[in-house]
Amino acid sequence: MNFASDNAAPIAPEILEVIVRANEGFALAYGNDDWTRTLERRMSALFERDVAAFLVATGTAANAIAVAHCCQPWNSVLCHAQAHLATDEAGAPEFYGGGLKLVELPGDDAKIAPETLRAALGRGRGVPHSVIPGALSLSQSTEVGTVYHSDEVRALAEIAHARGLAVHMDGARLANAVASLGCTPAEITWKAGVDVLSFGATKNGAMEAEAVVFFDPQRAEGMASRRKRAGQLISKQRFAAAQFEAYLRDGLWLRLARRANAAAARLAEKLGSIGLKPVWPVEANEVFVVLPHETDQRLRQAGATYATWPREFLPPGTSGSQNDELIRLVTSFATSDADIESFVRVARGT
Ligand SMILES: *Cc1c(COP(=O)(O)O)cnc(C)c1O
Repeated sequence: MNFASDNAAPIAPEILEVIVRANEGFALAYGNDDWTRTLERRMSALFERDVAAFLVATGTAANAIAVAHCCQPWNSVLCHAQAHLATDEAGAPEFYGGGLKLVELPGDDAKIAPETLRAALGRGRGVPHSVIPGALSLSQSTEVGTVYHSDEVRALAEIAHARGLAVHMDGARLANAVASLGCTPAEITWKAGVDVLSFGATKNGAMEAEAVVFFDPQRAEGMASRRKRAGQLISKQRFAAAQFEAYLRDGLWLRLARRANAAAARLAEKLGSIGLKPVWPVEANEVFVVLPHETDQRLRQAGATYATWPREFLPPGTSGSQNDELIRLVTSFATSDADIESFVRVARGT
């Protein structure tokens, strides 16, 4: 009953197999290999335009160097208060961005609303006193398992672009969002105004395979040096490239994500039927519920693994007592029906 995170899941067998196949003979290091060339072509085909893609080992690195690339040190990056960038990266964006400032915005369902963005852009005393907004970062899917629809991304990107900001998308779970929306990857990214994407594969079945994708390759100037300077140029890159290529080939990434999303939907439905209604709409592969401390203890004693989430993130007006816990359950392609059944049985207490 492991619902700790999707990166607690194993490597998908299809991807592990490709690592073994790539393990034949010699190939030049640092991305000068055929797997990397093939991946670059596949990324461009996937997004229906020429893109510049840079592999890195972690999503934190992808986010941090992506926003650093779009900003001057006196810029700010506007993001949701729950964004991974703001809550889970130990200051990496600020560090790689030379001291840039993250401005945390509120918003229901961990999403930023257009009026919130507009108001934030209206604040400040301007040059030289205030930080100058340099980028907007949107998490897709969000940290509470909701998704932005393409018209929502477009509305935000239009506001951002009108003020000269770059639009970054943290797609550590892009696959879950695309699978949920049923759109094309192009529609939810550059066609909706996204300039640079952190594209994750690790959580959805790969191992240490993340990418920064620029939809205008000219914007990527200097990125090769920035990645190296950040210590993120992978020497045996063929193994990361081979994984990412297999991930994208024949829609594997979406098949894996659909399994994860379906498991979350099933889990949410079953928890709902025993009175544990998800706190946020379950639109990707995460389910959040509030449950009594005793139920939490019973689940943990039965061996269930999951994260306790800060209650300060609960929507205002959420009912419940001081004795309640807010918990996060993350599903993956590897979540089994049996684990969902057991979890719900223990939660029900009979
Ligand atoms: C997991 C995650 C990341 C990347 O995290 P790493 O642990 O650095 O790979 C980035 N953004 C979001 C929203 C995530 O959930």
